[in-house]
Amino acid sequence: MALHLYNTATRSKELFTLPEGQSAVRLYCCGPTVYHFAHIGNLRTYIFEDSLRRVLEYYGYAVNHVVNITDVGHLTSDGDDGDDKMEKGAARTGKSVWEVADFYTEAFMKDWKALNIIEPSIWCKATDHIQEQIALVQKLEEKGYTYRTSDGIYFDSAKFPRYPDFAHLDVENLQQGSRVDMGEKRTVTDFALWKFSPENQKRAMEWDSPWGIGFPGWHIECSAMAMHHLGSTLDIHCGGSDHVRVHHTNEIAQSECATGKPFSRFWLHGEFLRMGSDKMSKSAGEFLTVSLLMEKGFNPLDYRLFALTSHYRNYLNFTWEALESAREGFKNLHKKTDALIGKAGKIESERAQQWQNKFKEAIGDDLNMPKALGILNGVLKDDLADCEKAALVLDFDLVLGLCLDHPRKDYASKKDVVDASKVEELISLRATARASKNWAESDRLRDELKLMNVTIKDGPEGTTWST
Ligand code: AMP
Ligand code: ZN
Repeated sequence: MALHLYNTATRSKELFTLPEGQSAVRLYCCGPTVYHFAHIGNLRTYIFEDSLRRVLEYYGYAVNHVVNITDVGHLTSDGDDGDDKMEKGAARTGKSVWEVADFYTEAFMKDWKALNIIEPSIWCKATDHIQEQIALVQKLEEKGYTYRTSDGIYFDSAKFPRYPDFAHLDVENLQQGSRVDMGEKRTVTDFALWKFSPENQKRAMEWDSPWGIGFPGWHIECSAMAMHHLGSTLDIHCGGSDHVRVHHTNEIAQSECATGKPFSRFWLHGEFLRMGSDKMSKSAGEFLTVSLLMEKGFNPLDYRLFALTSHYRNYLNFTWEALESAREGFKNLHKKTDALIGKAGKIESERAQQWQNKFKEAIGDDLNMPKALGILNGVLKDDLADCEKAALVLDFDLVLGLCLDHPRKDYASKKDVVDASKVEELISLRATARASKNWAESDRLRDELKLMNVTIKDGPEGTTWST
């Protein structure tokens, strides 16, 4: 059976195979900038990448999976100006940039574990690969792709005529729109490879280089680390959809100019998680973390299941109601699978094999996880023998990663610390709202109670509540 993946580079689904003689898939995924907690939007992208890895393994490939930790160089603009994200994190928390990096890296890894995301073969930190980054910039300099300004060494994108191709950019138009903000850049799409530390100011993170003391630009780290760990040409490079226009376009330019080889055969991008019409981001509005979900009584895997219900290339809209319904669906799923698991036998009958083929076909069609979940439900409804059903559940769970091999763990952390007087107050406010027929307010209060894990029941004696 064939595996097809949607390649952003060609905007089409392509057959995935490995080059002759290559034993493992070289997979590189852009990792977190560790200045804050990861939000559940970021984690949607890592769940999609985990699905990709699991599907590759299901299709029999060994996977050499590298994920970077950005602990230097990422400015708030994703470009070459704005504040340094790590320094912002340090100012916010009162810790040093190094402590901030360690703290949020550890928090990030905990989130991965909680979501049952498989550890990469290699985690690599940008600050552990400064020499590789300097060497790559030197190579570009030797080949004539760089120029110097008063604040750094820049990549000259006009020297790479294919620069606009990947993201279908109209550089002329972009240039018109941003003449004033260009500073000393020659072309709007040029980007910093190395930035100088400001004169008379010691930065918390800075290194010596052939061009003076400073720090690497954000984009160069991924090219340098990916090539250091995986070689000049990757099989698959992934990230969120925001990376297409700038970060990945820049990675392609600098890598291909340095090596003269294609940087990655496949590029896969996950679409954003939204709240209402906004994307979830750390700089704007409410941002939700795995620990917040747990505080509200969700198992992190409820979120994993929620993420799998939509295809990775579609926007996914987050609402608490949708997450609650994923949790209910998950509980029902467990009721069925918990009763089966101890009975697992072999997948032998023709019918069971057909189900398995259907599943493999769905995940091989550009990771169609919603369809794969539908097939799991189909198996559970079918009149197959329990031993075969159980075997199929365990087999599918290798890809779904929902931990169906053991009973569900229910989280109710906040349940026992519910503030009873607050509950009574909200119930009384709701009664007033209902008396004056203010249904919107009464619904809002009911939702607020729901978030506290409180269920209310209206009866002849008034409203009662339980957790
Ligand atoms: P960052 O830590 O900001 O560098 O982002 C880590 C990853 O999360 C990148 O691959 C981003 O493209 C991705 N990302 C950022 N915001 C969202 C979002 N709202 N939904 C899905 N992925 C996102
Ligand atoms: Zn990257």
